Amino acid sequence: MTDQYVVFGNPIAHSKSPLIHRLFAEQTGETLEYQTSLAPLDDFTSFARRFFEAGRGANVTVPFKEEAYRLADHLTERGRRAGAVNTLARQADGSLLGDNTDGAGLVRDLKVNHGVALSDKRILLLGAGGAVRGALEPLLAETPHVLVIANRTVEKAEQLAKEFSDLGPVLPAGYDWLEESFDIIVNATSASLAGALPPIAPSLIQPGKTFCYDMMYAKEPTAFCRWASEHGAAQAVDGLGMLVEQAAEAFYLWRGVRPESGPVLTALRRLMAEA
Ligand code: NDP
Repeated sequence: MTDQYVVFGNPIAHSKSPLIHRLFAEQTGETLEYQTSLAPLDDFTSFARRFFEAGRGANVTVPFKEEAYRLADHLTERGRRAGAVNTLARQADGSLLGDNTDGAGLVRDLKVNHGVALSDKRILLLGAGGAVRGALEPLLAETPHVLVIANRTVEKAEQLAKEFSDLGPVLPAGYDWLEESFDIIVNATSASLAGALPPIAPSLIQPGKTFCYDMMYAKEPTAFCRWASEHGAAQAVDGLGMLVEQAAEAFYLWRGVRPESGPVLTALRRLMAEA
């Protein structure tokens, strides 16, 4: 039987993961099947276990990443730190390895696809949800000068800063505490989904210097990218590259082959523009 992979989520019909992994498989000559899987909100664990009786691997998206973390028998260090799992891989002994490739995908998109150096930089993360939790370990591993987490609910930023302070200089903030500019600003709030912005001051952008990144992606520039461009950001890019890079990390974990993400990102961007 062909090796089976799925992405679990609810809802899931919109997912681009099957297309991305089909393109990776074609490119690398790997033989596999990858489908969406609508998991029930009230019984993710048994549903996932049934899949893994024969299935080889799964991606996990909203709202199951914490349940997937609890389901995994072993965790990678970044999965353990994130407290959430977006990739599950069945091991030879039948056990499940849980990983979180979101943050590695972000770092690779920033460094490799956009040529942004992170070492010794002042980085601002907007938001303190699951995506930020997954990004902290890989970002801090790049030795920034400082990493500030700003969030509407300041206590959540404080909690994250405390949990990750052993890995590097990480500070919490409320939006109205911020005035000075940053080298890199990453929007990881879900405000973007409603076309809204967190209450951030234009002074956070140093015109011509600050690189702005929205984890959300869309056919048109996102509200955050438009805001950043209007205030003179050196560049304002969306998170489609992060999506492709986190998938490439998962593919590598499952197959031991690293696909080339550039052509897949180009194809995806073209398909989105045509849709
Ligand atoms: P969560 O629901 O875990 O966290 C949402 C965050 O957004 C919280 O910090 C919340 O603040 C904040 N927020 C929501 N609405 C507002 C608002 N109106 N003003 C200010 N802050 C707000 O979401 P995730 O962390 O999982 O995802 C965040 C974003 O990242 C989403 O847009 C998601 O699509 C994107 N993402 C992209 C990926 C990619 O591959 N490109 C991968 C993963 C995520 P509070 O705590 O105060 O409620």
